[in-house]
Amino acid sequence: MESCSECGNRAVAARHYDGHSVLECELCGALAGSPGAVRAVLDARAARERGVDPAAFPLVRVLGDLRGLRIDAHGGGDRGQGVLPFVAFQLVDAGGLLQLENLGKSLQLAVRTSELDWTIELEPGPALTFALRPRLPAPATAQAVAAAQQDLATLARAIERDSRLSWWRHPASG
Ligand SMILES: [Zn+2]
Repeated sequence: MESCSECGNRAVAARHYDGHSVLECELCGALAGSPGAVRAVLDARAARERGVDPAAFPLVRVLGDLRGLRIDAHGGGDRGQGVLPFVAFQLVDAGGLLQLENLGKSLQLAVRTSELDWTIELEPGPALTFALRPRLPAPATAQAVAAAQQDLATLARAIERDSRLSWWRHPASG
């Protein structure tokens, strides 16, 4: 019998959250199990607390961390409705233009690892808003939505990695 590493309680139950199996302490709620599964469950909770669909959370977080961009809207997609996921953002200053260039290059490089082709579109409306979304007509098939949802995490990893490479141009601070 496993005991909780946080509180020592012995009542630890196997639970299934968001498709991941973890052990949960019935007293304090601490999670244990495979580190990847625990992280995924905690990320999903953090996403919901912020009002973000867990599927879109990695990409929303990575783009939101880029200086010069402000997240405007996002959606995790809906397989039943054929709705594709997207993340929309605004450029808050000249640094945002640099980031747009960076993202364009990162997307070109990610073509080999992502399931779908992704594009950055200028959204109609009064504000200068761009949306990162799959290059597919709507409504999409459930399979296409599933592929796009998988790509959300793939693209987040790619952008996070690329932002540390030498070709990524960082806006001057201040
Ligand atoms: Zn506990």
